Amino acid sequence: MVNFNNLSDTSPLIEDLIKILGADKVLQGEKLTGRYEHIWTMSKSLDALAVVLPETTQEVSSILSLCNQHNQPVTMHGGLTGLVGSTVTSKHELVLSLEKMNTIIEVDKSSRTITVEAGVILESIHEELKNHDLLFPLNFGAKGSAQVGGFISTNAGGLRVFRYGMTRELVLGLEVVLADGTILSSLKKIIKDNSGYDLKQLFIGSEGTLGVVTKAVFKLVEAPRSRNSAWIAVNDFQQVIDLLKFLDAGLAGTLSGFELVWSETFEALTSSPATVKAPLAYGSPYYVLIESLGGDQMKDQQQFEALLAEALEKKLIDDAAIAYTESDLQWFWQIREDVRVLIAQCTHNQQYDVSISIPEIGNYVKETREQLMAIPEVDKVFALGHLADGNIHFSLSKTREDDALKHRVNQVIYASLKDLGGSVSAEHGIGIDKKRYLSISRTEEEIEVMRLLKKSLDPNGILNRGRILDVS
Ligand SMILES: Cc1cc2nc3c(=O)[nH]c(=O)nc-3n(C[C@H](O)[C@H](O)[C@H](O)COP(=O)(O)OP(=O)(O)OC[C@H]3O[C@@H](n4cnc5c(N)ncnc54)[C@H](O)[C@@H]3O)c2cc1C
Repeated sequence: MVNFNNLSDTSPLIEDLIKILGADKVLQGEKLTGRYEHIWTMSKSLDALAVVLPETTQEVSSILSLCNQHNQPVTMHGGLTGLVGSTVTSKHELVLSLEKMNTIIEVDKSSRTITVEAGVILESIHEELKNHDLLFPLNFGAKGSAQVGGFISTNAGGLRVFRYGMTRELVLGLEVVLADGTILSSLKKIIKDNSGYDLKQLFIGSEGTLGVVTKAVFKLVEAPRSRNSAWIAVNDFQQVIDLLKFLDAGLAGTLSGFELVWSETFEALTSSPATVKAPLAYGSPYYVLIESLGGDQMKDQQQFEALLAEALEKKLIDDAAIAYTESDLQWFWQIREDVRVLIAQCTHNQQYDVSISIPEIGNYVKETREQLMAIPEVDKVFALGHLADGNIHFSLSKTREDDALKHRVNQVIYASLKDLGGSVSAEHGIGIDKKRYLSISRTEEEIEVMRLLKKSLDPNGILNRGRILDVS
């Protein structure tokens, strides 16, 4: 039987793309076999006009210039870990993947910078920097797949934002290619540059709708010489907030992670199919994973232990388990990072990453959870989050799937966010999945300025068409 999805296209556009890149870097027809749209759905094959694999910025520029002339929609693929449906394509979209542009160009130990191509995987940056006693602090569960272009375009956050900021605070220089092929290159290593508009910030977090990221320069910090972590059980939400303030003051700037996990989620993360056990007894309403990065392991550990003992004495915390070895550290962080364990326990899973001010979080999660569990088709609600950043994730299980039910669940989660001054996306972005809810986070005027920017930088709307907002 002929699979019409796998037939090759011989349009003038494809012929010109082959002239630019060579046939081996323009995948179509049978050559699309084995390619997918997301790491969680690898068995579902990719629908696309073709996948193009440039090796240089100049090739990216030629591809976009050609697509712009043909009004051809182009969708960027990075590591395919994004959580807002942006990398799902139809057979009319050309997929541009920078996976072959995966060179670490330079580590500059004196400037404390790293210059990389957009296809480099986050974990490869971490590995490389181990050779230089430097740290790129961006860290999240998908680090083994997420690529520079993807995490810049989504302004990824993760587990150490509280201390080091989101991706946008870590980018010093950027090279992007605009929809018409224009190359904007500013790969400077300087921290201060007030010479007019900070153009790079336009492309960070704009989810590939304004340009294609091809290279970046990141700010680094000296590698910490100490790392201390603990899981802590807490009885009351106000105590969670008090604990954050207590530890931040007591650790004098070295607190780098403060992850909150609600009780049901903690139990789910530490029971089958999880391969890790719980370091603390079940039964407390809240579990907090903390991390402190400093300069002297012995001294810092003593201070860390003393602070936790004081917190226990002051009844700020119920119990704590401290990581004493490298394998303890891995065990503790695997519990928090391996969210696949939660997903495995869900059917028709839906993921959320809302942002609200820290004091509102306790009530918001309690009320939202109750309303969600009152929906007959919702059978599990897991909550966890980057508490110190005011960022809460929900992972939901439902007994069936349809758009009306999805929307009903979305409305429960998003309903109060406008009044609370929150956001429908703290870090994953808007993409396709949250487009309908953008006006909860942004005013009409803000959305209009976004449209103006999109129209002026990409008048034909070829880049990541239909992501974030529709532009007529
Ligand atoms: C297990 C897991 C844990 C996660 N944890 C976190 C977390 O803690 N914090 C967080 O912020 N995110 C998290 N994410 C979401 C995801 O990892 C990030 O959004 C990630 O940064 C996306 O990178 P990627 O390379 O996979 O991009 P993709 O998923 O491939 O693409 C994401 C977006 O970027 C665009 N894009 C890709 N490459 C380019 C380019 N070169 N130029 C322009 N646009 C481009 C795509 O078109 C798409 O719109 C998690 C995801 C998973 C699966």
